[in-house]
Amino acid sequence: MTEKTLPLSEEQLREIAEEFGTPFHLYDERGIRANMRRLSRAFAGLPDFKEYFAVKAAPNPYLLRILREEGAGADCSSLPELILAEKTGLRGREIVFTSNDTPAAEYRKAAELGAIINLDDLSHLPFLRETAGLPDLISFRYNPGPLRRGNAIIGQPEAAKYGLTKEQLFTGFEQARVWGVKRFGLHAMIISNELDPDYFLDTARMMFELAGELAGAGVPLEFINLGGGVGIPYRPEEQEVDLEYLGRETARLYAELITGRGLGSPRVAMECGRLMTGPFGWLVATVRHKKDIYKQYAGLDACMADLMRPALYGAYHHITPLGKTGAPYDHLYDVTGSLCENNDKFAIDRPLPLLERGDILVIHDTGAHGHAMGFNYNGKLRSKELLLGLDGRTRQIRRAETTDDYFATLDFTDFTGR
Ligand SMILES: *Cc1c(COP(=O)(O)O)cnc(C)c1O
Repeated sequence: MTEKTLPLSEEQLREIAEEFGTPFHLYDERGIRANMRRLSRAFAGLPDFKEYFAVKAAPNPYLLRILREEGAGADCSSLPELILAEKTGLRGREIVFTSNDTPAAEYRKAAELGAIINLDDLSHLPFLRETAGLPDLISFRYNPGPLRRGNAIIGQPEAAKYGLTKEQLFTGFEQARVWGVKRFGLHAMIISNELDPDYFLDTARMMFELAGELAGAGVPLEFINLGGGVGIPYRPEEQEVDLEYLGRETARLYAELITGRGLGSPRVAMECGRLMTGPFGWLVATVRHKKDIYKQYAGLDACMADLMRPALYGAYHHITPLGKTGAPYDHLYDVTGSLCENNDKFAIDRPLPLLERGDILVIHDTGAHGHAMGFNYNGKLRSKELLLGLDGRTRQIRRAETTDDYFATLDFTDFTGR
C-alpha cells in the first residue's frame, strides 16, 4: 500500500508529542503556503482571481494570517467568523459573507466591515435593507436545483436549503437595482469534497452562461464566485485534483463565454476550505487502551470531539502508526475515542500493525473540518492546535480546552447542590 507523507520524520513527530503532549492537531505552514501559491498560479489566467478561504474549515487566526499573506481573503458565515477575519486584519472586499437563515446582527457586522454580502434568499434583500441598509454591491447565491447533482456530504441541490432559484435571481437583481444597488455578483456552492475537476468546469460553464443571461437582463456582473468544494485525496490511492488543468480550462471557458461575448472582465473567485488546509493538518494521538472482545479496539486519547468526520459521514482518514515501518498490517482494528457513542471511531476494521498501549498514531488530512467541528458533548474537551512554522519550530496556536472552559457558561454563584 502507498503511504501518505508526514510533515516531519517520525523521530521529530515523537519529540513534538513528548514536548506538547497528545492529542493535538499539527498544521504545516510550508505546505499551506506552497499550496496557496500553486492555486494562485494555476488560476493566473483569470483576471484578478481571488481565493476566499472558507473560515469554517479551520477558524484559527494564525492559519488565516498565513493564507492572507499569500493573498487569500476570507469567506465567513457567522458573527464569530467575521470577527476572526477582522482580527486577522482582513477588511472590506477581502471578506465575503455567505450565510443562511441570517440574524440581523450578522448583516450589520458584515456591512460595518464592508464585506461582500452574498444573499441566500430573495427575502433577505428587504431584510438586509431594513436591518443594515443596502450596500452598493450585492451578490446572490444560486441554487441550480435539478440542473446539477450533488453528493453525500452536501446533498442534492434541489434538496439543499441554500440559494435562490434561477427565476428568483432575476427578480432579486432587478429589485436590488430598483433600490439603488449598482454592482452585482453571483455565487454558487453546490458540491463538497469533489475530486473530479470536470465537475467544477461544468459549474464554471453554468455560471459564465448565466452571467451572459444576466447581462442581457441589464445586470452586468462584477464578480463570479464559483464556491469551494474542491476535494482532497483522503485515501492514499486517490488522485488529487489537477489544479493546473482546472485553472487553465476555467480560463479557457472564461475567454469563450465572458470575454468572447463582450461581458467585460468580472473577477472570478473561489472559496475553498478543505483544499487550502485539509492535507496540511494531522491529528496526533496516543493509544490509551487496547480492548479485545468480538472485535479488536485501539482506544485513543483523542475522540470525535477532535475529529468528527468519520462519525458524521463515515469519512476515511488515513492512519500512520509511528515506529511500525516494515511491520505487517496484519491486524484489524476499530480505532476509537472515549465518547459514549458507538460511532466515535476514527476507523473501522482498519488493517494496521499490532498496536501497543502508548503507540502514537498520526491521523492524516485533519487540517480542514477537523478541530473546527469539535463539540463538548459528553464533557469531552477539544485538543490543542500546533503550527509547524517555516523555521522548523513548532508553536501552540490554540491551547486545549479545560474543565474551566466547559463550565464557563454556567453560573454557580447562587447555586448549591443538594
Ligand atoms: C463550507 C463552505 C465552503 C468551503 O467548502 P470546502 O469543501 O471546505 O471547500 C465554501 N463556501 C461555503 C458557502 C461553504 O458553506
